[in-house]
Formats: sequence, C-alpha cells, structure tokens
Amino acid sequence: MRGALGGPRVLLRRLREVMAEPVSAQDRLDKIVVLIAANMVAEVCSVYVLRVDGTLELYATEGLNRTAVHLTVMRIDEGLVGTVAREAEPISLSNAQAHPAYSYRPETGEEIYHSFLGVPILRAGNTLGVLVVQNRAHRTYTEEEIEALQTTAMVLAEIIASGELTAMALPGAEPAARRPLHLSGLALSDGIGLGHVVLHEPRIEVTKVIADDLPAELKRLDAAIDTLRASIDTMLEDEGVARVGEHREILEAYRMFAHDRGWIARMREAVLTGLTAEGSVERVQSDTRARMLRMTDPYLRERMHDLDDLANRLLRQLTGRAGGPEHEPLPENAIIVARNMSPAALLDYDRTRIRGLVLEEGAATSHLTIVARALGIAAVGHIENIVGQVDAGDSIIVDGVSGEVHVRPPGDVELAYVDKVRFRAKRLEQYAALRDVPNVTRDGVEIELHLNAGLLVDLPHIDETGAAGIGLFRTELQFMIASAFPRTNEQLKLYRSVLDAAADRPVVFRTLDIGGDKVLPYMRAIEEENPALGWRAIRLGLDRPGLLRSQIRALLRAATGRELRLIFPMVSAVEEFDRARHIVERELTHLRRHGHGLPDRVLIGVMLEVPALLFQLDQLFSRVDFASVGSNDLVQFLYAADRGNPRVADRFDPLAPPSLRALKLIADKASAFGKQVTLCGELASRPLEALALMAIGYRKLSLSPASYGPVKAMLLQLDLGALSALVAPLLESADEPLTLRPLLKAFAEKNGLPL
Ligand code: PEP
Ligand code: MG
Repeated sequence: MRGALGGPRVLLRRLREVMAEPVSAQDRLDKIVVLIAANMVAEVCSVYVLRVDGTLELYATEGLNRTAVHLTVMRIDEGLVGTVAREAEPISLSNAQAHPAYSYRPETGEEIYHSFLGVPILRAGNTLGVLVVQNRAHRTYTEEEIEALQTTAMVLAEIIASGELTAMALPGAEPAARRPLHLSGLALSDGIGLGHVVLHEPRIEVTKVIADDLPAELKRLDAAIDTLRASIDTMLEDEGVARVGEHREILEAYRMFAHDRGWIARMREAVLTGLTAEGSVERVQSDTRARMLRMTDPYLRERMHDLDDLANRLLRQLTGRAGGPEHEPLPENAIIVARNMSPAALLDYDRTRIRGLVLEEGAATSHLTIVARALGIAAVGHIENIVGQVDAGDSIIVDGVSGEVHVRPPGDVELAYVDKVRFRAKRLEQYAALRDVPNVTRDGVEIELHLNAGLLVDLPHIDETGAAGIGLFRTELQFMIASAFPRTNEQLKLYRSVLDAAADRPVVFRTLDIGGDKVLPYMRAIEEENPALGWRAIRLGLDRPGLLRSQIRALLRAATGRELRLIFPMVSAVEEFDRARHIVERELTHLRRHGHGLPDRVLIGVMLEVPALLFQLDQLFSRVDFASVGSNDLVQFLYAADRGNPRVADRFDPLAPPSLRALKLIADKASAFGKQVTLCGELASRPLEALALMAIGYRKLSLSPASYGPVKAMLLQLDLGALSALVAPLLESADEPLTLRPLLKAFAEKNGLPL
C-alpha cells in the first residue's frame, strides 16, 4: 500500500478509535469510508450491505454522490459489486469498465473511475456486504492492498452483524446479516420447539482483532501453532486417545493441515496487515469457509469441518478458553444447534430446558435420533451450514414434523407456530383420551402396540400410553451414556426399575448391541473398514463372553420371580443363536447352584436384522421362543445402504416390493410356526409404514413413545381386511409398482385414516 498515509496498520489503529467512539452505526460507517479512502489514496470508498431481499444497498460512500446512499440498490446478479458478493472473492481491476460484469449507475457518478477493488464482507463464511475502493487512474492494486482491504472488511462485518444499522422502512430492506431464514431438512424427531439457539460447540468470540504490537502478535500466533502441532502429535502417539475419541484419520488430516504452509502463511500475512493473532485466524477461516461453502465436492466440504475444528483449537489456545458448552447453564427453551453430536453429549444437557435440536448431519435411524425421540425433543437434520448461519441466542423454531427450521422468524411465522403448538397439545390430549380404548381395528383385528425404550426417562410412557409392554429395551443406551462400564449392580438396578415400571406387562430386553455407530467412549474401538458389518452386537458378545455373561446374570437376577424375555441382536446364523442361548442356560445353572432366586420363566428370542436369516427361517423358528424384526438394520442390509449415511439412507423406499416381501416372508413363517413376531424398527413408528406392516400380517408393533398416539388413532379407523385384500395381490404380481407408498396414501385418504 502507498506509504503516504501510514499503510494498513495505521488504518486499523484509526479504525479502532472510530469503533470506540460513542456514535451511531451509520456515523461510524461514514467515518470509516473516509478513513479507508484517505489511507488507500483512493478517490472512492463505498460500503454495500446485503439485504434480506437479496439486493445490495449502498450504505456509505466517500467519493460517489452522497445522495445515492440508501437509494442505490443492486441485484446480486448485477455488476461487479454483485459478483464480489456472489463469489465471496475479491475483484481487482485496473480498467473496470472493460469488464463484462460492469454496470453503470448514473446517480452515483462513478463513470469517471477506472480502477476498482471490491472485497466481500464476510462473517463465518457468509457474505454480509461488499467493500469497494475506486480510483480515477488506471491503477493496479497490490496484493498487500487487497489483503489490507479484506482485513478492514472484517471490522465492518462486526458493525453489520451487530444489527445496529437502521434500514429503509421497506419490507426486505433490512440487512441480511440478521435476516430470517427458512430452511428445510430432514424431520428426525417429532415435535415443535420454539426457543433460542445454543451452539453445541460455541464459536470462540474474538473481541480484539486490531493489534497493538505486531511482532508480539506474530510470536503469539507462532507459539499457538507450535502448541497445536505438539498437541496433535501427542494425541497421535497416545494410542488410547487416537483410537477412541478422535478417529486416527481425522488426526492425521489435522496434522497435515497444521503443517500446511499455505494456511500458516495466510494467517501470518493477516497479522502483518495489523490484526491480532486471533483476528487473523478468524479472518483466514472465514475466507476459507466462504470458498469451501461454494464447493460441491463432498470430500472437500468435509475438510472444511476439519479446518473449522483446527481454527477453533487455535482460537481456544489464543484466548485461553478451554471449557465446553455443557458447563454453561442452558437458557429456558434451548434449541441445540450442532454439526452432529453423540447421544451421550445430548444427555449431558439439562433435558428440562431443551426444546429442540438442529443438526447439519443426522439420520433417521441413528442413535442420536433415537435418544432425541426418547426424550421427546423435536429434531431436524440435514440443515446445511446451520452452525455458520446462527448466533447464540437467536430465536429459532424447529419443526420436527415437517423438517423445517425458522431462524430469527418474523412475528407472523412465530404466531402461526404458537398456534400449531396449541393445536398439537390438543391432539396429544385426544391421544391421551384413547388410552383405555382397546387397540382393535374397525373390522375387529387386535393389534398389540408396545414401546421401544432404553433409558429411565422412557419408563413413565408405559403408563401414559397404556402400551401392552416394552417390545424392545435397548440395553446399550445405559452403556453409551456412562463414562465407564456400568457394573453388574448398576445394570441390575436399571433392569429391575424397568420391570417394576412395566408391572405385569412383558418387557423384551435386548442384550448389548454395541459396535457399528454405537461406540462406547471408554472401550477401545477397533479400527474397522465397515463397522456396521464388523465386530458388533452378538459377534462381540460371543467372542468376549465375559461381558455378555455378566449382563445376562444381571438380567436373570433382576427378573427373579418374574418372566424374563431376552433377544440377541444381529444374529446372522442359527448357530450363533444356539451359542448365545447356551450362555443363558449356563448362567441359569450357575444361579441355581448358588442358591439364587430365578425368573419364573425365561423366553429367548432373536432379532431378525441380517438378511441371511431369511433363508434359515425354518431352522430359526423351530428354535426360538419369539422373534423381533429390526427393520432399521434389515432394510439397510437388504439394500446395502448405510442407515446412518444421509446420502444413501433414504435412497430406497422400505415400502417397495422387495423389502415388503422380505418382511412378509418373516410374518408368514412366524405364523406357520405359531411363534410371536414383533416389528421394532422405526418403520413401526410411522403411521403409513405401520399401515403397510399390518397389511402384510404384523399384529405386534413396537414403537417410539411419541408415535404411539398417531399409530393407534390410525389403526382404530382401519378396515384391515380391505387393506390386506388390496396389498396382497400387488406383492404377488409380476407387474408390481415401484413402491406401495402412493397406493397406501390414497387408501388412507379415501378411508379418512389420520396419518
Ligand atoms: C433395528 O435395527 O431395527 C433395531 C430395532 O435395532 P437398532 O435400531 O438399535 O439397531
Ligand atoms: Mg438393529
């Protein structure tokens, strides 16, 4: 930059003075453009602010006609300024008028200026506006000047994001920084939550961006980078850490980035323009995010998260802040916003204050989703870049029914949702009123509805709903939320509470189903290429029988004098079932021999969730006391589509003939053998899917507590005979539909079934 007026550092110092003055945000902008123009020896300096309606409004200028301020409004697809905003990249031209995107606004009087330098005003990678300098002469702006202007833009971002700028009294004219957002994602957990954003991993707020002492800031940056590198090396060397919490691959990627010369050089350059070490980390990260958000390559997008994490680590070091979010008290009506999180992390929060959960990732049958449902927390996933688009404390609405999220909603949207919540409460009252109505279809078929559970918080739902029992108790949830292996006594205590809560209603306990996406934080994870197909569930139980044995012992003792129903997860062959049953028999003998009390009756069943068992059904049903279909896994394995991978999880419709035929085969065989079969995957929890299951012969469903009312209300209106007559021929026909979904929907509509 031309040295005459002191260069970028002097500019930043002056900016700091202006920022400290007790003037309005508009006055501050007016002063800043004058300062920048003088410092950069430019005739023009202007600030354009991106508005809610997607246009760019001239908010301040030095050099252009002042009367154009707040009058000149450009579309984002218009002119050089629009291009800078759209691409979130600087544009530097010595002959702007020759550029194809140049568009001329007579009211501004800018036609006499030939050179143009525009930089985006970015915050967390989002464009808030554009900062422009122009010169009459054909001038080539240097790299340093471009860099310095970007640094200055960072200060402007804070003014715009503060929400203090007053806009024209026109709808849509408000600055976009705080604009309402209406986003659509994937509904994960039913319910509607109104509240305020709590960032699961809060951004580190950088309060001081302008440096006093550059050499000292460079030193701080270098030292922080050194510490960061050393800490990654230590993590990689410490096998325990590298294998458990942090995935080794991620750590390797972190190490690569932490040594990346380009990244480090960019941060050092940013310091040299006058920023503090933390200011420079934030600036470089914001630019990187802006670039990466515009990439479509999923691999590169994933790397953006790695870089975010790394930048956050640096910021934490530089600001000396280490603490996690769970240490801060939650506000009332908290809506947790995260890229993704573990079920244990969700359970760490004060549940009474959480109204909703919004994720960038998430999947319908993942364990986090299952826990959110158990807790009755409305949740929506697949909301791209939500973490970068909200600030802590923003008002937000999560609609876990439609999958919509409203950030900073306008008053009318909020009012509509308050009404919706009232309406839902009324519906819940109606469901509650059905509690003692027998679960019988209109044509007299009895359907047993059970609950899926796994935590103590699930237990009150048995009485609330009047469910027939617990069709699936996922014992691993207790293990997943603990910080160390629960002792046999702790297990026994939980199992006893479950049996007490169920009183004389049956409970089906599933033995530990860990591995796959169910990781125990304190257990050494084994690196596997395909964990869902790996060493998990009963496979692990049979290879390490100590764990299984102690759990079975706890279950047998908890059920003293009562009935115990047990199922084994992920059985792939009858031989595995035989071995698992043998362990139960040995434990029974052991307890008997030592004079312990015993259950009155032990029923041993199997989870049907691996397709190979479909070809061993005769052998299986002649051995087991009962079976339970885990459709979440069965469907993922049938279609070879990872249930936890948002890109493929919903690619195949479980209501398509192949999966329905597989499910029907199981129901038919069970009935031929006179064995009870329940379906306990998430399919049973969705009314339309539950309809299909009943049509193909399922008479016992186990579902999440929130789904109990809707499924029951639906089946009470159902003429099951008519539906089965409609569905059966389709599954036998050679000319089958792609999926039965539209047909089932039409049937439900015609017959007035509430879905
Ligand atoms: C299933 O796979 O459908 C099931 C009920 O088990 P989980 O979701 O716990 O794997
Ligand atoms: Mg399963």
